[in-house]
Amino acid sequence: MTDSSGLEETDPFAKLKLASFLPLEKLEGRSKCSACEASRKFFCYTCYLPVDKLIGRIPAVEIPFQLDVIKHPLEVDGKSTAVHAAVLAPKQVQLYTYPCIPEYKDPSKVLLVYPSESAKTITEILDQEERAKTGLDSDSEEATPPACKKTKKDPKQTAIPFERIIFIDSTWSQSKKIFNDERLRDLPCVILAEQKTFFWRSQDKEDNYLATIEAIYYFLVELFNLTSDLQYAGQYDNLMYFFVYMYRMVQKQKKNYIKIHKKKQKKTATHEAGVS
Ligand SMILES: [Zn+2]
Repeated sequence: MTDSSGLEETDPFAKLKLASFLPLEKLEGRSKCSACEASRKFFCYTCYLPVDKLIGRIPAVEIPFQLDVIKHPLEVDGKSTAVHAAVLAPKQVQLYTYPCIPEYKDPSKVLLVYPSESAKTITEILDQEERAKTGLDSDSEEATPPACKKTKKDPKQTAIPFERIIFIDSTWSQSKKIFNDERLRDLPCVILAEQKTFFWRSQDKEDNYLATIEAIYYFLVELFNLTSDLQYAGQYDNLMYFFVYMYRMVQKQKKNYIKIHKKKQKKTATHEAGVS
């Protein structure tokens, strides 16, 4: 819920299982990146490394596949939330700046997160895979139960039918240009379930155009819930570690600003009343 001043009334991330923010709160000033020597606060957004004082003190997230993020060259590095993923899940996340992108030799093992005309939902992709495995084509009347609707008798986790997932990190109009690249446009595409963004720097007016780190996080949770009988236990929540910390800082600053502004208004009103 948002009030008239654009502030969230309740913390949308209250239920996330996040590591302590103490290391971030205690960190004073800026430090030099150990790789490029640039002055950085929490992490280097060009080397994707935490500052020395945070090494071993921030959470590490494991993702069940390789994740590539293709960044538009005009996207400002320091503002990109894709960097959060590379810092928090360094083993699986790779960032590329367009037009430099990897060669995807086997498109059947790759999935591009992009709302193209032929994009499918995660549920549809899992169902299609299940049908392919059982030898039934998609038009068959005798369809097997969808992969996502597992019964309690089958506690196994459904295999994830891809090895690599690609996200595009850019504004909506820039992402269209990247998608039209011949190396990407024929890859199978997936669309995410709609979610509201809480990105404070959102450039697109649409409420559901997510920051890249939000998109990665919601994708992982949706995929987990569709492929596992186990209850989601927050294992990817820490991908939102920096995002939530920064979000709360911005909300706090906004609240303080409004407080000061209201005080000023009150003072002016009292003063004017006194004059007249
Ligand atoms: Zn650096």
